[in-house]
Amino acid sequence: MNTLLPTDPLAILRGTFGYHDFRRSQREIIDSVLAGKDTLVLMPTGGGKSLCYQIPALVKRGTAIVVSPLIALMKDQVDALRLHGIAAAYLNSTQTTEEQSHIMDLLRTGELKLLYMAPERLLGREQQFINFIKELAISLVAVDEAHCISSWGHDFRPEYLLLSKITKALGDRVPVVALTATADNLTQTDIAEKLQLRQPRIFVTGFNRPNIRYVVQPKNNTYVQLVDFLSQHKSDAGIIYTLRRADTEQLAERLSLDGFSAKPYHAGLGRETKNNHQEAFLKDEVSIIVATIAFGMGIDKSNVRFVVHMDLPKNIEGYYQETGRAGRDGLPSTALMFYSYADFFMMQKLTTITDNEEQSKVMENKLREMANFGSLRTCRRRFLLQYFGEEAAAYCGNCDNCLTDYEEIDGTLIAQKALSAVTRLGQSFGVNYVIDFLRGSSSQKIREVHRKIKTFGVGVELSKDEWRHYLNELIQMGFLKRSSGQYPVLELTTKSKEVLAHGASVKLPKLVEKEIQTEGSEEVELHVDLGVILKELRKMIADSEGVPAYVVFSDASLRELLLYLPTTLQHLEQISGFGMVKVQRYGDPIIEKIAAYCKEHNLESKERAVPKATSKRTKSAGGTHLKTLELFKNGRSIREIAKERNLRHGTIESHLDLLIKEGKLQISEALSAERVNTILSVLSDIREPGLKPVKEKLPEDFSYGEIRMVMTHKNLNK
Ligand code: ADP
Ligand code: ZN
Repeated sequence: MNTLLPTDPLAILRGTFGYHDFRRSQREIIDSVLAGKDTLVLMPTGGGKSLCYQIPALVKRGTAIVVSPLIALMKDQVDALRLHGIAAAYLNSTQTTEEQSHIMDLLRTGELKLLYMAPERLLGREQQFINFIKELAISLVAVDEAHCISSWGHDFRPEYLLLSKITKALGDRVPVVALTATADNLTQTDIAEKLQLRQPRIFVTGFNRPNIRYVVQPKNNTYVQLVDFLSQHKSDAGIIYTLRRADTEQLAERLSLDGFSAKPYHAGLGRETKNNHQEAFLKDEVSIIVATIAFGMGIDKSNVRFVVHMDLPKNIEGYYQETGRAGRDGLPSTALMFYSYADFFMMQKLTTITDNEEQSKVMENKLREMANFGSLRTCRRRFLLQYFGEEAAAYCGNCDNCLTDYEEIDGTLIAQKALSAVTRLGQSFGVNYVIDFLRGSSSQKIREVHRKIKTFGVGVELSKDEWRHYLNELIQMGFLKRSSGQYPVLELTTKSKEVLAHGASVKLPKLVEKEIQTEGSEEVELHVDLGVILKELRKMIADSEGVPAYVVFSDASLRELLLYLPTTLQHLEQISGFGMVKVQRYGDPIIEKIAAYCKEHNLESKERAVPKATSKRTKSAGGTHLKTLELFKNGRSIREIAKERNLRHGTIESHLDLLIKEGKLQISEALSAERVNTILSVLSDIREPGLKPVKEKLPEDFSYGEIRMVMTHKNLNK
């Protein structure tokens, strides 16, 4: 079968893998490998690293050796390749001697295009293996998770050091391609050195994951908030991370009792239980895994729709890696974190390393950055990317802060009430007590003497949430501070006097309930029933092949099936992810189900007006904005669209902004020249970052959304 494969990378991408276009830099990387150059690839999780060596492996004669540390991942990758009709196999310690010698035979006869291998297999018998492969035609060596070779990385595996022996033994004739999602320079040089790469070409692609929406919610009534969120994601797969092992079990059980399909996972569970839970999750039999960070390495499941952090992660690196497990298929996904400042104190104790002050300091600073991320009010994506040394626009349009407009109110009275409550309570009580006191709570916890104070109950008009929000703001603005220590209490600052004694006026941002809905879910909702039918079919095929469902076809492909309703094999080939072999093998039952559904509901297939990958890309940015574009281009106003689509005015504006960013809409189409010019003139006068100073200089009727559009336009035309 392989001898019939074409040798043009694009033809293989389309014919074998069923994708239409290469993603940014994939093509360049492939060309570099094909030119025989050693190549180092730094690309975020989900970026599409696999194709960078799989396609060269198919183009070149011989067998590619792929080194991968994760046995679970290896099996998935090989299964996925086989479903595409590619001859691939793996060697690792889970196999019997017979299985292994069978694979050796296949290698000798040159029947494999790709061989996956765990480096631990080399230990103690590397020379034997090298002698063996020297006799074979090896097309290339790919080293996945290449940072494992570096002791600077966060996941050092000594057996990786053996790999240089292989690359050396194979000499100049075989290119080596090393791939990792870890970015820092130190690791990068270390990889090149330890693997002895020969003048490697280095490709660094951006770390942005545009389809992941970052959302942080204050920890109030976290379980209720969580259930609320999960209810919007009923049939979706997701991972919930907790800090403590016990919490994973408790939370999974509580969620199960509340009708969610959830299982725990942590390093302390028995091997079998862990495997069962992981398998069930991979096979879509369980939707939610509640886990400690022990879970996730080697999880290649592409349709993880959300990752929730119940507790503050220790550092941005970990957070980014964990949230990166969402949305590998490019569809809209959510990273939700619950945050409270108290978490910082709790974690601070955990990150302290006894007798190592220096290291403790480093850890604490990393933790502080994480806490800063939690209380951030500007674009979260920008913060993350800048942390990793990448420049980013001030507005991403897909994080809670970019999607929320903060309205300012006169908070003088609120501040006065809060500060005098803290004074009256002798600066010796924590946030919760102060709030109960302000609201005149009848709780037993409030001491009798405090009930008699005049200030008791002066803040009854605000809810607990609102008070928590305003107190946090006052802390951030320096009017109050939290003491350090195990039980932080609220204390006054030198700035407090301005309010208490001099009657200074205070402006506070009003609390706006943030929406944590995932965008772009409408399209699929059109044919929910068909979605269920196709998922059942997918599961049946997956079970009979012994692979996870998403290996048969991904949710991204499912979405396209529901959108275009293909009822012929030719049409099915147009769907992203359906290569020739998949269409031949599984096409018939799929189009039969769709045809039956269309007949029953009087529906027709839709031709793809655009090549498949292009439409996929636009959708991954949140397809809902395209609907807005259509209505807008048909002459509808923002207000009308908001009403018709039952969305907020600000949301529609953010769609237009995104469209401008994507070059689908010109600023002159969105706003009148007069308004654009007014905003531009204010923009040119202002040095401070952010929208607020601009808004303040403009007449009342200018919205944040309009300012954003003009800023985007300006940035694009710099
Ligand atoms: P990584 O190894 O970098 O984490 P993968 O290689 O697993 O990423 O790719 C992530 C997902 O993107 C997979 O589902 C893959 O099939 C898909 N993908 C990769 N390249 C393309 C492409 N050019 N067009 C469409 N989908 C792609
Ligand atoms: Zn943002």
